[in-house]
Amino acid sequence: MKLRIGVIGTGAIGQEHMKRITNTLSKGKIVAVTDVNQAQAQAIVNALHLDATVYNDGHQLIQADDVDAIIVTSWGPTHEEFVLAAIQAGKPVFCEKPLATTAEGCKRIVNAEIEAGKLFVQVGYMRRYDPSYLALKATLDQGTVGEPLIIHSAHRNPTVPETYTGDMSIVDTFIHEIDIHRWLLNDDYVSVQTIAPKKTSQAADHLQDPIIVLMKTKRGALISGEIFVNCEYGYDIQCQVVGEKGIASLPEPATVVLRTDAKHSKDILVDWQARFKSAYDAELQDWIDSTLKGEVNGPTAWDGYVAAVTSDACLEAKVSGEVTPIHLDDRPAFYDQALTTVQK
Ligand code: NAP
Repeated sequence: MKLRIGVIGTGAIGQEHMKRITNTLSKGKIVAVTDVNQAQAQAIVNALHLDATVYNDGHQLIQADDVDAIIVTSWGPTHEEFVLAAIQAGKPVFCEKPLATTAEGCKRIVNAEIEAGKLFVQVGYMRRYDPSYLALKATLDQGTVGEPLIIHSAHRNPTVPETYTGDMSIVDTFIHEIDIHRWLLNDDYVSVQTIAPKKTSQAADHLQDPIIVLMKTKRGALISGEIFVNCEYGYDIQCQVVGEKGIASLPEPATVVLRTDAKHSKDILVDWQARFKSAYDAELQDWIDSTLKGEVNGPTAWDGYVAAVTSDACLEAKVSGEVTPIHLDDRPAFYDQALTTVQK
């Protein structure tokens, strides 16, 4: 049996997900698509030789009888309305981050799920499926380095377009660290502060780059996260956990080690799609498999809510320069059932 999927938003990541479902993954089939740019939606349907209907809007697609489950890859501000409509229609939904652009919007989704009495939503925090992060988490969970005390992390992009804003360094870039660090530590955040070092001459005039985000967790661990989106040299994700008994570092992507021309060298990747390709594949395959079983196995709407509250506090801290508290509601017992395979 194949899961019949409708895709809302056929831009960059929407097209990538459509390609992987069609060409790489199993048990999923795209039967419906929509985008405000209908010509683009039709073009990708044609390019992938899909037998799929192109709808005028996302709500029609959600209601279609032959659509079992929804993927939301449209522009962030549209996510909330489509995810709520999918829950109301009783259809499972995979939503790219952010779940909603405000914490209140995420809370509305959490409340809708609780009211429906069933988990419907998986959020696209694909790093939880990355083999390197899974290996690091297994090491931490086994207690090999003891209680984690500090995480040093870096999220470096070679460059970003002029349109990239200071807020995007949190809501588009650091949001992945917000999710992955609390997952690695099985902990939540209590406060955040941001610090701006000397600005690189490579960044646009309006953009402070790099920045350092300092977050404290409930159990007292400190996270020092560097966001540097004009680092020039490559796409580089670093994570080192300092524990009471040792240090655990995120494995580097596997590349050939060269000895040539009197140099000992390795390539560094240049784009996020290559770095996290296997994570995106595993994430969507898991979503298809668990959806067919009537389950949600990956990051939930609650995780989307926590990320939104935390990123709001990061933005506030960026403006004030102060240590800013992060106030999370208590996790509803409903989400205890959602401490998932991929989180273990
Ligand atoms: P994108 O290239 O701009 O694609 C978004 C698409 O959605 C565009 O084609 C846009 O049309 C369309 N759209 C906007 N409003 C719509 C609506 N109401 N109904 C149907 N389609 C609509 O952006 P993207 O890079 O693919 O990103 C999409 C989402 O995925 C964002 O939330 C982003 O944060 C997330 N994302 C996540 C990751 C990850 O690592 N997990 C990576 C990349 C992106 P127009 O262009 O005509 O407005």
